[in-house]
Amino acid sequence: MTQHTPKVALVTGASRGIGAVIAKQLAEDGFAVAVNYAHSADEASRLVVELRQAGHRAMAIQGDVADAADVRRLFDETEAHLGKVDALVNNAGILKVLPLAQHSDELFEQTFNIHARGTFNTMREAAARLNDGGRIINFSSSTVGLNLPGYAVYIASKAAVESLTQVFAKEMRGRNVTVNAVAPGPVATELFLHGKSEEQIQAYAKMPPLERLGQPEDIARVVSFLASPAADWVNGQVLRANGGLV
Ligand code: NAP
Repeated sequence: MTQHTPKVALVTGASRGIGAVIAKQLAEDGFAVAVNYAHSADEASRLVVELRQAGHRAMAIQGDVADAADVRRLFDETEAHLGKVDALVNNAGILKVLPLAQHSDELFEQTFNIHARGTFNTMREAAARLNDGGRIINFSSSTVGLNLPGYAVYIASKAAVESLTQVFAKEMRGRNVTVNAVAPGPVATELFLHGKSEEQIQAYAKMPPLERLGQPEDIARVVSFLASPAADWVNGQVLRANGGLV
């Protein structure tokens, strides 16, 4: 079987948090990296400067993953400046913890648009444009296994991501493309920390048997593995990375 070494990675939501560390890790792994962001232009361009200063190829591309035209442009610009995509990492996400009964229509739509539609948009584009032998790594959440109150809409949107992942892995038959999802437990980023008291944060940190919060590096290493030749035989899976939480 011919081995294909992925060379260009497109990471959505890479301006901050887990995505920024994934971008750094994949750059160290030898990928040229397209750093997608929605709003945080300064963070994205600072990251690109840092990557370039370290000798890597990188560029920042604004685009809302929920918008199909933006996603087409993301692939267009990545191809034009870095080359055809080998690894697509669908990391972009938001979290608003709120009981289902208090969710507005807008928040429901926003959450599903970024997670489910965003993953759909990028994978539909990738179907035609990803190099054979490529990798798709989607983002779910270990909350899918916990069914925590306040997380209903977030969890439902991530469950949709898991289903899209498992079916799309089969639909890519014949292309030697793997499609997997990573499902982190609590990771110390703004998405998780925002709006929580120190007491709540400590309670989450104590939940897994490894008794700490995840760090973005814990998750970036899992993405690095899934994007590497070592994971050639891992396909259609949801990999929970959470210190044993669930
Ligand atoms: P974060 O620190 O809040 O960063 C979120 C990133 O997503 C930012 O770069 C943001 O870019 C980007 N983004 C948001 N909406 C976007 C859109 N419509 N289009 C493109 N980019 C968009 O979050 P994080 O903790 O790193 O989370 C990363 C992923 O891990 C998410 O999918 C999240 O659901 C998942 N996850 C996180 C945890 C956790 O505890 N942190 C646990 C389980 C799963 P801008 O700043 O430019 O808007």
